[in-house]
Amino acid sequence: MQKNVNIPPEIKDFTVITDVAPITVPAHGGRAKCLQRLTRLKMPVPRTVALSFETVRAIADGDMPDLAALLAEFDAAPLLTVRPSSEDPDWGGPGAILNIGMNAAQAEALASDIGQDAAQLLYLRFVQSFAVHVARLDPDAFDTTIADNDGTEHIEKALNTALEAYQFETDSPFPQDPAEQLHAVLRSMARAWQGTTARLLREAKGAPADAGLGLIVQQMALGLGHGESGSGVIQSVHEGSGERMIKGRYLGQSQGRDALKHRDQALYLQKDARGPSLEERCPEILEALQGYADLSRRKLREEMQLEFVVQNGSLFILDGVRLARSSLASVRIAVELAEDGIIPKEEAVLRIPPQMVSELLHRQIHPLAKRDLFGRGLAASPGAATGKITFSAARAQTMASKGEACVLVRRETTPEDIRGMHAAQAVLTQQGGLSSHAAVIGRGLGVPCIVGASHMEVNSRKRTLTAADGRVLHEGDEITLDGGAGEVFVGAVKLREAAIGGAYQTLLEWAGTFKDLKVRANADTPMDAQTARRFGADGIGLCRTEHMFFEGDRLTVMREMIFADTPEDRQSALAQLLPMQRDDFEKIFEIMDGMPVSIRLLDPPLHEFLPTEREGLRDLAEALDKPLSDVEQRVDALSEFNPMLGMRGVRLGITVPEIYDMQARAVFEAIVALAGRGHPVVPEIMIPLVSAKREVEIVKTRIDAIAAEISVRSGVPISYKLGVMVETPRAVLRAGDISQNAEFLSFGTNDLTQMTYGLSRDDAGRFMSSYVQANVFKEDPFQYLDEDAIGELLQIGADRSRAHRPDVVLSLCGEHGGNPQSIAFCRALGFDYVSCSPFRVPVARLAAAQLALKSKLS
Ligand code: PEP
Ligand code: MG
Repeated sequence: MQKNVNIPPEIKDFTVITDVAPITVPAHGGRAKCLQRLTRLKMPVPRTVALSFETVRAIADGDMPDLAALLAEFDAAPLLTVRPSSEDPDWGGPGAILNIGMNAAQAEALASDIGQDAAQLLYLRFVQSFAVHVARLDPDAFDTTIADNDGTEHIEKALNTALEAYQFETDSPFPQDPAEQLHAVLRSMARAWQGTTARLLREAKGAPADAGLGLIVQQMALGLGHGESGSGVIQSVHEGSGERMIKGRYLGQSQGRDALKHRDQALYLQKDARGPSLEERCPEILEALQGYADLSRRKLREEMQLEFVVQNGSLFILDGVRLARSSLASVRIAVELAEDGIIPKEEAVLRIPPQMVSELLHRQIHPLAKRDLFGRGLAASPGAATGKITFSAARAQTMASKGEACVLVRRETTPEDIRGMHAAQAVLTQQGGLSSHAAVIGRGLGVPCIVGASHMEVNSRKRTLTAADGRVLHEGDEITLDGGAGEVFVGAVKLREAAIGGAYQTLLEWAGTFKDLKVRANADTPMDAQTARRFGADGIGLCRTEHMFFEGDRLTVMREMIFADTPEDRQSALAQLLPMQRDDFEKIFEIMDGMPVSIRLLDPPLHEFLPTEREGLRDLAEALDKPLSDVEQRVDALSEFNPMLGMRGVRLGITVPEIYDMQARAVFEAIVALAGRGHPVVPEIMIPLVSAKREVEIVKTRIDAIAAEISVRSGVPISYKLGVMVETPRAVLRAGDISQNAEFLSFGTNDLTQMTYGLSRDDAGRFMSSYVQANVFKEDPFQYLDEDAIGELLQIGADRSRAHRPDVVLSLCGEHGGNPQSIAFCRALGFDYVSCSPFRVPVARLAAAQLALKSKLS
């Protein structure tokens, strides 16, 4: 056989698995290595031979190892099993083939041991599985089911029919030579691994393009015989909950995973009120099995599922696989392994993919739930929820007040929908991208949300939601959203509750002790601040103060301020807003208890606070006691062609300075109040959408004056930190200049992405999937930080600001802040913190901990 020069000389075509055989995961795969470990633990593993990746590659290319030599490693005339052994069991692989070597002579020989019928049946099963899985013949031609009470004649007839079908389909008799059978099995499994579908499936699970497959050939322990014989599986935790328990099944006179396939006939392992058990039938076998399960947990440092066979009273362990498990169980298993001293805490933290933690924070669709897919959109905020469709935010509030669960369905959401979004169980919008209003708010509130469902049609007037296939749902119809998958289902789908206690909490506490990058939360209200604390945030990195103005009566006062005709009227409206903001700040500072809080001054264009629909305009005219036409004119006057590039952010602060004055006053008055109660606070104030140094100077001068005035008046010394949000490419390029007046810079990558791409974050959803599909963008840049371009801007901004101000504090607070990939990028740039919505804080903490641990390991 052609040998690859990279393969060490001791790796042979095949290797008998013994304690000392040179078996490695990279050369022979995980299953082979696991079997060697079980052998070393002195478990009764039948004789097993491992074929390396290299051998299997050669087999696929038509170069077979010496099968006579291979067969000589086993007892005379054995039956064999072949199983796949890839590097990572999650990468899949061809199914196991059992009973290789079965033929007419074997059937006759076995008859005295296991009975004529059982022997014939075994032969029939082998012919069927060989025909379908090895020779790849039409399964229908071999689809004979044999019932328990079918007699000898029936079984023989079925066997003859299968043998004839085989001959008919292949023009040759069913192979009787074990070497010939083994040859065909090895070749078929080796080739199956190279098939396109298998390759794509494993690549989707992270396998490299050249991932290899090993095979193991094992002597069968039959599981059939006159004495106690059968097969089963055992595990020592529940795969759904992670709870410690002996779980599994045993079925007499069976092979492979029959015990799981025929649960109704199988025995429980331990005594169980639901039916008979192995413990009652053969207590000593259960005891031995429990011992092996416990041993494998301690020595393999993992929860395993062991496959076993009892052959005439003797126990064999055929295989051990890492137990497939739910996210909930993964966390509990890792934590308990560490608590039992089997693995270090660091390893427990490293074993949990951060995304898994996000799943556990929210209710999810039950894995076994039946579902009827109505359509898809972009997965904007994770979690699942069921509710009745409503097309208006006001109705969502009414329904919620009556205790009715609803899903708010809109073409897109606007700031005035915020209360409806609060009230709804979930939000669905036809338009919008992953950093659109609905998406950002949904994530902030922890409400499941799907945006950009462009194949659906929302008609708020007719109150209908139409799917791509023409199905129509009406207001009041029930739907279920899976915001983590972006899927909408008709009706109520069974859900599973969030699971954030116990092991989950412990894991995150450990993560908190390992991470070396701070994780703050984007929290806008006292309620958000509480959530941020609960999830272990290191402070607030972005308090979007505008969200405070959408609450209750505040919106009306805000609108009065916007509509003010004279400076006096404006001052009077601002005077009403001041105590409201001050109260909120006071509460937020109190909740955060000395942790840093970064307050961003007002950012959005003023017209966002105004109603968009006629009904709202009429209500506003009434509230302001002005004619509707006046209100309409004023709204018109405020409207801009490109509001996102217009009068917003610091531009508003420069042209209508009274607003920022009021906000700064509210911050300082709040800290004066808290100082009186013994809570000194040093707030951070952040200016949005800056593009020039002078903007910062103007705002800073006014804020300094307000701080001085309040300090003198109250007698409380006031200090604060001033920072700038870097959201425009110009701010990046001028970061050196700008940082002269800013102690910290926070990169707002939502706007920075929007401005760099010249791509509206609210409209990108419409074509983003086509762009990603056509590989124009590798990923949606609003979701995954574009390291090439936006990453370079972060680097430039960091370098230039540090050159002027070495101690400048740097952070990222766009939606990317909760994404493990961007967290890695920020950590590499030496940023001080990332900030993300409270519900993403746990994921970010875990990701940051893993990065710190991995960097220590490397
Ligand atoms: C940003 O632009 O990244 C940001 C955090 O601000 P907002 O999303 O509020 O525009
Ligand atoms: Mg922004």
